[in-house]
Amino acid sequence: MDDSKKSAPLSPSPMTRRQAISTALMGTGSVAAYMTLGGCKASPNQAAAVLQSPKTIPGTLDIKWTGPAGIGDYAQANGNTHMTVNAAHALRDGGYDLTKAVKPEDEYDLVIVGSGISGLCSAFEYRKARPNDRILIIDNNAIFGGEAKQNEVEVDGYRLQAPQGSNMCVWPATAAENLNFFWHKAWRELGMPMGNEPDAPKWLDAPNMSLPKNHYSAMMVVRDRWPQAQFYPDPTAPGKMKVAMSPWQNGYKDMPWPEEAKQQMVKVDNFFPTLPAGEKDLDHWMDGMTYKDYLANVVGVTHQEVFDYLSPQIAAYGTGMGCETVSALAARDFLGPGTSTQKELQAVIDRRKVEATRFEPISFPGGNATIARYFVKKMIPDAIEGAYNLKDITYGKVNFGKLDKPGQKLRIRVASTALIVQHDGDPAQAKSATVTYVDNNTGEKHRVRGKSIIMATGAWINKYVIQDMPPELREAMDQFNHAPMLIINVAVRNWNFAEKLGAPALRWHEGMGWFTNVRAPMSVDGQAMPAEPGKPAILTFYVPFCNLIDKETLKMPVRAQCITARTQLFDMSFEDIEQKIRKQLGVSLSPYGFDADRDIAQVVINRWGHAYVVPEVGFLHGLDGKPAPREVVKQGYGRVRFGHSELSGVQVWHHACEEGERAAKQILELV
Ligand SMILES: Cc1cc2nc3c(=O)[nH]c(=O)nc-3n(C[C@H](O)[C@H](O)[C@H](O)COP(=O)(O)OP(=O)(O)OC[C@H]3O[C@@H](n4cnc5c(N)ncnc54)[C@H](O)[C@@H]3O)c2cc1C
Repeated sequence: MDDSKKSAPLSPSPMTRRQAISTALMGTGSVAAYMTLGGCKASPNQAAAVLQSPKTIPGTLDIKWTGPAGIGDYAQANGNTHMTVNAAHALRDGGYDLTKAVKPEDEYDLVIVGSGISGLCSAFEYRKARPNDRILIIDNNAIFGGEAKQNEVEVDGYRLQAPQGSNMCVWPATAAENLNFFWHKAWRELGMPMGNEPDAPKWLDAPNMSLPKNHYSAMMVVRDRWPQAQFYPDPTAPGKMKVAMSPWQNGYKDMPWPEEAKQQMVKVDNFFPTLPAGEKDLDHWMDGMTYKDYLANVVGVTHQEVFDYLSPQIAAYGTGMGCETVSALAARDFLGPGTSTQKELQAVIDRRKVEATRFEPISFPGGNATIARYFVKKMIPDAIEGAYNLKDITYGKVNFGKLDKPGQKLRIRVASTALIVQHDGDPAQAKSATVTYVDNNTGEKHRVRGKSIIMATGAWINKYVIQDMPPELREAMDQFNHAPMLIINVAVRNWNFAEKLGAPALRWHEGMGWFTNVRAPMSVDGQAMPAEPGKPAILTFYVPFCNLIDKETLKMPVRAQCITARTQLFDMSFEDIEQKIRKQLGVSLSPYGFDADRDIAQVVINRWGHAYVVPEVGFLHGLDGKPAPREVVKQGYGRVRFGHSELSGVQVWHHACEEGERAAKQILELV
């Protein structure tokens, strides 16, 4: 279809553009800029108060805050635990006494801080060129993987896994590779299944119900394939919920909205942008305004109901915050409604007609934890028990003793928080840098020296850890803001309710658990979680905070929004969260035979205080002709390079690989 035949949409008014730019300035955390530019109704004092005292939680957290974390390898590593948060906040608040000299213990060719997918991919790439070099990876969690970890529980004799965060990839991998979509060559190099092997995994449907194969498909992008029950409070019966079933299919007629809001939502669903005259390209144009301004000024949305409907969708997908906060381009990157052109949509339809490019989103039992495990198994074969195949790498026990074995070329040291990274001398001349870290379990401090350093950690950590970074780098990092996410894994003894309801996907318009679905289990070599409604399963809830914080906060600078959201996440006890989710499921699903007391076996929470970098206005391409801050950070300095997925602005597993690979290549040019 030809886009040019559509009438050009209105370009944003000068006022809108100014507002967009002011939003970006506010995102730097400049209260002065915020107050001068105005245009926001939240009290400047309120914003200043949030920005000036970013101490999200007082005192020291304990295990009660973290809550039970299930069993197996990840039983002490559910999201940000009290151990990791206490250590990070002590670092931020100067709580470590570093005056006592700690002797350098060891020297490595490369020290990598962070064992998420980016840090692991850095090591993988570096070792291709220099297999005999000594590498140490330090991570503050009890296990490697970062945001790509899993929870495991046992219910009624069934062992169940679910992602803690990172979830979706694309299948078959041959199609991902052909399209270069959700793809990094490490997948093939690691020997991960491509989908054309005789023993390739399958995903199981329930006897009477098709199930989404991950937690993102039904949320938004391929939502038509599964019925989605949307719950909202029943205005006629306090304490009860009403259901709108897949409301996009019937013009949102059952939503408790004004008629005009329904019409606007339909308009968004069917809207295709075209480039206004005088604009360079769609991406740059959309990077210059918030998604809300785009919806309001280009699409013509006026109703808050529409913004509130869309915000958690894009936030959970990967922008962290909603329409008011992130750029229209960020929404476009995460396939936000109304942001793809007709041509792009047609391309999606066309490639479904060709087998080589026909794909669907899937997830491994513990989500992308499997990708992290492949990296580790490849580089330290005996670190995960079993053979080199999908089944054993997914389910094999981690042999923690082998991760950090003396004499090994690659060592992974978990439960160790990097406190200081500093060059040994002038960064421009230095031949090495020293990393001081604390053992989270013993409190002992140690130092290691690296001829090169890769920080596979986010800006919120790097700013505090790195001592001698040039001012332009620090300034660039200061422009990164990060939003929280809460992932709640609710292990249920059965999910008969979904059959009675006629929907495997559920969304709430009020309350704690925003979205979940029953997920199709992966079957490999005869091993699979059950796929029957009468048997146990884990419901994974994706909870962004953009709709949970109050509307006044959304008028504050982006930094203040994120701090407020994070405070909300960290202020809740495990019991608060557990009670809220139990109540929500009880109230919503009891008409369908669900009894929260009887049917919920266990709740595991995963708090991600800095889940996603927030791609606010200008974050992806820069403003006023200046380079985007992420491009400045990517340059690194001295012996230090940065390789975290936040630097892509679109946090997904393959971008984590790309950033890790780039950082490794930069280091290889130095050595
Ligand atoms: C809720 C959620 C859902 C997601 N869903 C998907 C999805 O479906 N598909 C997809 O492709 N991607 C998804 N992603 C994104 C993607 O998987 C992540 O961007 C990627 O895994 C992050 O890898 P990373 O290595 O860049 O960073 P991280 O995983 O953040 O790794 C950094 C590591 O460094 C550690 N660290 C931090 N500070 C220190 C310190 N001082 N000392 C030592 N170690 C430290 C951290 O604890 C962490 O382990 C999701 C992310 C989240 C949060």
